[in-house]
Amino acid sequence: MPETNPAACKIATDTGIEGRFIAGLFYCLEWNPVPYLMASMSKLTGNSEEVFAERRHRMIERQIVSRGVQDRCVLDAMRTVPRHRFVPSGSIEQAYQDGPLSIGQGQTISQPYIVASMTEHLELTPSSRVLEIGTGCGYQTAVLAEIAAEVVSLEIIEKLHARASELLTGLRYHNIILKHADGSLGWPDLAPYDGIIVTATAPQEPQPLLDQLSDGGRLVIPIGSHHDISQKLWVITRDGQDFSREYLYDVRFVPMTGEIDQ
Ligand code: SAH
Repeated sequence: MPETNPAACKIATDTGIEGRFIAGLFYCLEWNPVPYLMASMSKLTGNSEEVFAERRHRMIERQIVSRGVQDRCVLDAMRTVPRHRFVPSGSIEQAYQDGPLSIGQGQTISQPYIVASMTEHLELTPSSRVLEIGTGCGYQTAVLAEIAAEVVSLEIIEKLHARASELLTGLRYHNIILKHADGSLGWPDLAPYDGIIVTATAPQEPQPLLDQLSDGGRLVIPIGSHHDISQKLWVITRDGQDFSREYLYDVRFVPMTGEIDQ
């Protein structure tokens, strides 16, 4: 969904009168600067985006497909979202590595495989509405927005909410609603949700989130104390007033704070 900026393309192609004068001068001097300029420009801009796209493709094959994620929509979404734009500038070279990274405020962006696997377990379709608890840097939010019709995402730390909001607006996602709020209570006004994903560990199942699932909806959530070495990742599926639970695997997440922590 990110689009290129047409204004930027125009500046690059329209050299104007001064440009034509300078080009004429070089023509008289029998030296064509265009290949040199093009080479330096692409080193500064195009090339590095190509390098990141290549790293992204490698990340999909080596870290995600090789570990069993198969959902085409998830793989395509992660091939599209520029993960390097979401990490702090000091970590840009590590953006596509096989692990989590710090995003400031004591929080982390999850390992790419975990993002892919949790998203796959939501079983989203293009008409799904999703609730995410823990926007963080907004990377998981963007991956969800590539697949689903609408993504609602709540973040308890104001600074992270503001930064993610600016970034996702800049990338022109129009199907994301962000809110600075305590997500342990969900957002009942916009419920029900076909999928709910929690990217911080909860001490127990948050009842308000179960209540906000649609019939057949799926909640993917890590449960356990953040003092423990690992927590359990669960997918909880609603069937009318019943809920079935499937344990997926062990994970390590930052704690869910707010009301649930009191
Ligand atoms: N999905 C994020 C992961 C961020 S880490 C990403 O891709 O970057 C978990 C996030 O959950 C943190 O930003 C933390 O501030 C947030 N969080 C913790 N408890 C929360 C709560 N009760 N409500 C909303 N967000 C919460």
